[in-house]
Amino acid sequence: MTLRAGVIGWPIAHTRSPKLHGHWLKTYGIDGSYEAIPVQPEELDDFLRGLGASGYRGCNVTIPHKEAAFRRCDRVSARARRIGAVNTIVVAEDGSLDGDNTDAFGFVENLRQAATDDAWRQGPALVLGAGGAGRAVVAGLLDLGVSTIRLTNRNRQRAERLAEDVDTPVTVMDWQDRSALADIALLVNATSLGMHGQPSLDIDLQHLPTTALVNDLVYVPLETPLLAAARARGNPVVDGLGMLLHQARPGFAAWFGVDPVVTDALRAAVLA
Ligand code: NAP
Repeated sequence: MTLRAGVIGWPIAHTRSPKLHGHWLKTYGIDGSYEAIPVQPEELDDFLRGLGASGYRGCNVTIPHKEAAFRRCDRVSARARRIGAVNTIVVAEDGSLDGDNTDAFGFVENLRQAATDDAWRQGPALVLGAGGAGRAVVAGLLDLGVSTIRLTNRNRQRAERLAEDVDTPVTVMDWQDRSALADIALLVNATSLGMHGQPSLDIDLQHLPTTALVNDLVYVPLETPLLAAARARGNPVVDGLGMLLHQARPGFAAWFGVDPVVTDALRAAVLA
């Protein structure tokens, strides 16, 4: 029997997830399918109620459904609760839904695989952005035990709410102070600035130690202006595509029974 999974969102045309899972299905010789499924917000409840009966082992969840799916799942993992959003759903044997959030896992695994050393783990880390991606990054850094985490967001209240939601101190800084980088070991852009069609991120890297690791979650373009500027002054850099690839692993393992590996061939397939 063909094992079925997919990704739900609205709109969903630009998702790279079918390419990603399709590559793994082929690589591991699994009789499975993974589709992009357009689901409008008003259809979400009905769709999720019928997920198992429609033959799906589960699905990924993307914009704008992540918070609604969190409320709709029968059980959610601790890491999904920490972020308040679900991006991966697994249908249990009785048809009930287990919700998980694998973005923090993807963020951490990407840095682990791509960074040449782990000096970045000593902190301090500065996270730009307190949206869904910023929440995942802070959760990942807390999981790793990074002791000094600074957070800044254009809308300061949003950063303060994020800091209040976690049980370890996170220092909130004003957005206008984002270039205060003199002791930073890890700089992460978790805003949408620098993404194709968005304004670029205005930040002065002059005081950033050249040993600091710079990671941009934006992956369209793959080399953002931030990464290009950091690379030009000698900083190690990690792009955002790896996070997208690694966050997909737990879902694939649950639906198709293989813990897949992120390889250069996978990156090339997704970029093609
Ligand atoms: P989101 O919840 O909509 O948050 C957007 C963030 O960008 C907020 O921090 C927002 O600040 C900030 N922002 C937007 N326009 C800005 C501007 N003109 N000036 C300053 N800040 C601005 O989106 P998200 O889900 O967190 O995603 C953020 C980015 O991460 C997106 O580019 C997304 O593609 C990327 N991402 C990548 C991965 C991956 O796997 N690599 C995973 C998740 C997300 P305000 O709160 O002040 O509006």
